[in-house]
Order: sequence, then C-alpha cells, then structure tokens
Amino acid sequence: VRSRDRELQQQQALIGMTPNAMGVVGNRRSTEDFEIGDVLGEGSYSTVTLATTVHPPYRQYALKVLDKEHIKRERKTKYVLIERDTLKTLDGHPGVIKLWWTFQDEWSLYYVLEYAENGELLKWIKKYGSFDLRSARYYVAQILSAVEYMHEKGVIHRDLKPENILLDRNMRVKITDFGTAKLLRQDEIKDGQPAPAEVQPGGRPRARSFVGTPEYVSPEILSEGRESSFSSDFWALGCVLYQVLAGHPPFQARTEYLTFQKIINLQYDFPPGFPAHARDLVEKLLVVDPLARLGGDPANGNGIEAIKSHPFFTERLRPTRSSLSEAGAQ
Ligand code: ATP
Repeated sequence: VRSRDRELQQQQALIGMTPNAMGVVGNRRSTEDFEIGDVLGEGSYSTVTLATTVHPPYRQYALKVLDKEHIKRERKTKYVLIERDTLKTLDGHPGVIKLWWTFQDEWSLYYVLEYAENGELLKWIKKYGSFDLRSARYYVAQILSAVEYMHEKGVIHRDLKPENILLDRNMRVKITDFGTAKLLRQDEIKDGQPAPAEVQPGGRPRARSFVGTPEYVSPEILSEGRESSFSSDFWALGCVLYQVLAGHPPFQARTEYLTFQKIINLQYDFPPGFPAHARDLVEKLLVVDPLARLGGDPANGNGIEAIKSHPFFTERLRPTRSSLSEAGAQ
C-alpha cells in the first residue's frame, strides 16, 4: 500500500495535484473526493455515512447527506441553514463537531463533518448503566466548556441531550445537531441575555416555539410568553448531569404532556447514593426561573463562572486504584 501511495503521490505531484493533510486536493469538494462507507445513522431528513478521502492519508469524515426535495417538501430549509451557519460560526473549539466543507449537487446537500468514532454519549450510558463520579465530571466539564464557547459566540443550542453529544476516538466530547439552535448577533445580546423581541405597534410578540426534546426542554419554553435563553442550555446540562449518574433522565413519563407537567412542577427524585455535590449542582441547575438558575443571570454576578466554580467540578476526588498504583510504581 505504501508504494502504491508513493506512486500516486508522485503522479499527483507531477500534475500539481498533491493532496493535503486532510486527504483532499484543490478547493472545491464533491462526492468524487470520498469513498462512501457504512451508514452511521439516520436523521429525520438526512443520512450520515462514513466517508474516506480517495487520496492519502485516507482521512475519515462523517458525510451528512440531505435530500433537497425532502427538505423543501417538509419545509426544513430554515433548520438546514441554521445548522450550517452555527457550525461555521463555532469553528474554534474541540468540543463542537467541526464542519469541514459543504457542497451540493442537483439532488442533495452535503455536509462533511468531523467523524466522531465513538458515537453518541447515550450509547455509553446505556452500555454502563451509569457513570462513576470521576467519569461524570470528565464528560460534563467538557460539555460545559463547549457550551461556554457556544454562548460566547451567541449560539443557544436548545437541544442538548446525550444523543447530540458525540465522542471521538479518544472519548472526547463533540457536540452536534445545531438544527434547532438559535444564532444571535452580538447586538441581539444584552446583559448576557437575548435582547427582548421588538414588538411592532399593533403587533404581537413573537410566538414562542417548542424546540428540542420533551425530556430536556426547560420550563420557560413550556410556559406562556417566554423564549429560550442561554440559561435553557444550563437546564439541559442539569438533565444530562443527572442522567449520566442516574442512568435515566430526571423527567420521564408515558406521554409528552405528562413529561411537561413533571418539568413545570419540578417533579423528580434522586436515586439512593447520588453523590452529594452532584446533587447540589443538579438542584441549582434544575430551577424553574431561568434567572435564578445557576449561571442564568450574568448581569448580576450569576454567569457561567458560578457553574464552573461549583464543588462538583472543584472537589478533590480520592485517587483511583490505578493512579495509586501508578504513584507507587514511580
Ligand atoms: P434529527 O435530524 O432528526 O434531529 P439527527 O440530528 O440525529 O436527527 P443526523 O445529524 O442526520 O440526524 O445524524 C444521524 C445520526 O448519525 C446521529 O444520530 C449520529 O448517531 C450519527 N452521526 C451524526 N453525525 C456524526 C458524526 N459527525 N460522527 C459520527 N456519527 C455521526
């Protein structure tokens, strides 16, 4: 294979077509650049497959293929564009999936994404039932760091959940699925919050819309007249922290309506043995009033720093057996 690679590279160098480290040549991408592999998953209007560059060093990507006809028919154009635009905005943090290129042909739109080899966090919660405290802190700290970056860039994710938190080959977090995100311009942010929508004289306030997944949706989105804010992502973070330690989301019921009832009434319990600092953090994140929620009121000294400095992240954990034995071996 090496000698074949070398031969190919020599031929390409001769015609000025040397592939770069990403395994691609030139500026324009097309399906010709990739060999399509296994299907990694299906979304409501897309299919994601493994795609390997046809040139060395044969890099692997996740290719999201969106059917144009289907998008038009289902009126999903807005979501497709939001996903592309937010991913392009969020180009500088290892905790957000990277969008390398986009291109299209007559039938489809193509998003070439960083490949998260270890799939969804949900898969790992199901595999292990729940995580120990150290692992929970490891993953939740990475999620928080990515959320901090998103918020700095004016993006509210609005659908954070273990299905949208992918893991790369080194089990590092890669947040994805920005189709229902809200992208705010800097002039649309006031005191660390989305500025209230302007109401035209005689007009009505913008209708609130439920976006996201029932189990993780914050109470402000369910109650009359409220829009999502950065704080809505902190509610979802509280749900994810609860889930990695308990093995299931805090609010679950037979129907969407009953789930919503539990959310607005803050009806959830901790399983026995839930770690104390983690419990305290969940209780401070699952607060119905978005301003009173930890991190939810940056203008009054309650910004994301309040979450980062919570003892759940700062407490010293006892060394594990392996790190003890490593220390002994030195
Ligand atoms: P929906 O559009 O209905 O919200 P979705 O966001 O899960 O669903 P896709 O973005 O099309 O839809 O992803 C489909 C599946 O493909 C995901 O559930 C995930 O398991 C897998 N997948 C998506 N992106 C990647 C990636 N970058 N690396 C690895 N797997 C991925």
